[in-house]
Amino acid sequence: MLLSPWRTDFPALAVLEAQGQTYLDSAATAQKPQALIDALCGYYVSGAANVHRAQHLTAERATRAFEGTRERLATWLGAAAPDEIILTRGATEALNLLAYGLEHLIERDDELVVSALEHHANLLPWQQLALRRGARLVVLPLDTSGCIDLSAAARLIGPRTRVLAVSQLSNVLGTWQPLDRLLPLASAQGALTVVDGAQGVVHGRSDLAALACDFYVLSSHKLYGPEGVGVLYGRRSALARLRHWQFGGEMVREADFQTAVFHPAPLGFEAGTPPIAGVIALGATLDYLQTMDRSAMLSHEQALHRRLLQELSAREGVRLLGTPQAALASFTVEGVHHADLAHLLVEQGIAVRSGTHCAMPLFRQLGTAGAIRLSLGLYNDGNDLDRAFDALDRALEILL
Ligand code: PMP
Repeated sequence: MLLSPWRTDFPALAVLEAQGQTYLDSAATAQKPQALIDALCGYYVSGAANVHRAQHLTAERATRAFEGTRERLATWLGAAAPDEIILTRGATEALNLLAYGLEHLIERDDELVVSALEHHANLLPWQQLALRRGARLVVLPLDTSGCIDLSAAARLIGPRTRVLAVSQLSNVLGTWQPLDRLLPLASAQGALTVVDGAQGVVHGRSDLAALACDFYVLSSHKLYGPEGVGVLYGRRSALARLRHWQFGGEMVREADFQTAVFHPAPLGFEAGTPPIAGVIALGATLDYLQTMDRSAMLSHEQALHRRLLQELSAREGVRLLGTPQAALASFTVEGVHHADLAHLLVEQGIAVRSGTHCAMPLFRQLGTAGAIRLSLGLYNDGNDLDRAFDALDRALEILL
């Protein structure tokens, strides 16, 4: 039956079910646990205040709670210290912070290396940095399963490589990337390594010690937390190489009309009022996630994912993109336009994504105009898949 013991912790699931909706779009954003909702309401009800500024009681309480999330994130990710955690407004902002913060290290003909499967959030900031500096954007090709081709990477990463920026888990192909072998290729050349963990962190690989990267990026809203919050982990020595990029309140130690002295990380990279309520609610979400039996959660997800792949493979004409290993599957159906199929699925209450999933160059390489993506959260169960596949069969009867 593949029931999820955590489903009832997410009140929206019951609401969606009552509306005849089956949510299979968690890779875009996840539903939220009650613990987050309580923390969000609790913060506003007990008095909002800005952080790091005033001495009054409400501000002190807000600052303590805000910094409490930073500490929890550091522990959760296995960072050396809380000040290796910069709080941003999303993974996209974190990656842009890096592309601007590292700009001064990039010279003409230097190389920035990404892979062919990157989300636009981990492609365009580097592409634009390369254009600004006259550097070269090098794109690592994939093997047929949808993983970065390591022998090509060994050829393409070289002494001009300054940054390697790659995803941990593809948001289109659902493939884990071979980071344990890839990142050392860049580190050996003295390049900085950036891992886009927006998808990977959700599905059990949040251990920075195992990753050994210089920077790691995630988005709270995919990790069952609120929107508007992102996380940038930076190894302390790597953070020291970043130049400040956004300027404003609270990131400055001394300011005069013509000059200023900025705080180091993390505060020096958190200009302006941060998303306080969201950060506090993310802390509560992490506490909730900590209460879970992690291995039970991962085996539930794996069992659901296996079933998802079995069902898709059992249908004639269905073509999977790559060889998905976790969390999601993207597919096309021979002779059917993905948008028509998505329309019929959505009409039957199946919440899926269709299109190019913010990875247009990857789709161009695959020679596919777009695909349907079904993605899983820890609250999904076998009934969700039954409903999705009944709907898929009905849709295909109409379309084929
Ligand atoms: N990287 C990956 C792999 C993603 O899937 C996403 C979100 N779809 C992002 C980066 C960007 O995250 P956000 O839009 O929350 O900034």
